[in-house]
Amino acid sequence: MKPRVAFFDFASCEGCQLQVANLEETLLDVLALVDVVSFREVMKEHSDDYDIALVEGSIARRMDEERLQEIRKRAKVLIAFGACAHLGGVQRLGNHWSPEENKRIVYDGADPRDIGDGNPFFEQPRHRAVDEVVPVDAFIPGCPVNRDEFARVLVALLTGNKPPIPEYPVCVECKKKENVCLFTVGKVCMGPVTRAGCGAACPTFGNECEACRGYISHPQEQAQADVLVKYGLTPDEILSRKTLFTSRYLEGGRTA
Ligand code: SF4
Ligand code: SF4
Ligand code: SF4
Repeated sequence: MKPRVAFFDFASCEGCQLQVANLEETLLDVLALVDVVSFREVMKEHSDDYDIALVEGSIARRMDEERLQEIRKRAKVLIAFGACAHLGGVQRLGNHWSPEENKRIVYDGADPRDIGDGNPFFEQPRHRAVDEVVPVDAFIPGCPVNRDEFARVLVALLTGNKPPIPEYPVCVECKKKENVCLFTVGKVCMGPVTRAGCGAACPTFGNECEACRGYISHPQEQAQADVLVKYGLTPDEILSRKTLFTSRYLEGGRTA
């Protein structure tokens, strides 16, 4: 009998699930290995009997926490996929302000009754990564996830192997592509401390890496600091500029 797989979404744009739905030529290979029993984006059927839970999205509300705990109880293996589940996502930036400040900034001028003062979002608006709420067996980084990497991680877990998530920085892939380093043209980039695997997607097209794949576990922080000093920046300056996906680290969470 094939392992039964179920997909779940929490606070997210559902773009990572869309990546999986778009697996295209790899899809049949994946379906040969597993039975998908729940996947709201692509099928109506749902079953609470599953072996592997794939969780997308950050956990913000009490009701999300309880739902996730139920999923964890049922699943033998739980995989957090995408930056929202892995790091808390862009929405985690809201943790820097109080619920009242977020409400004022986002809904300035709106009648509170229109947005609902009893809105559960405002009851517990602190976004967390999935592994800050329940134990996680594996994670797949990225915003969105790379669908080929998704398939590789799933196959590795199904065959009892370690998920092939790179433990070296984006700079390695960037150098292999012989890109001009963005620091030399006055930009700043999180490539030196960010987990590779995206093929240096952003710097290759002239865009600064925002660390959507999270930091590598053991970044060469001193080497990064040396690069910053060379280009007239301090670590504090770059951290204050690059907060899109890095709130988790600024809050002191672990670096997986
Ligand atoms: S990680 Fe990015 S693409 Fe995936 S659900 Fe979150 S916001 Fe969407
Ligand atoms: S552009 Fe970014 S990823 Fe590429 S070498 Fe420079 S710092 Fe590293
Ligand atoms: S270059 Fe950085 S921000 Fe862009 S996809 Fe890769 S890890 Fe994410």
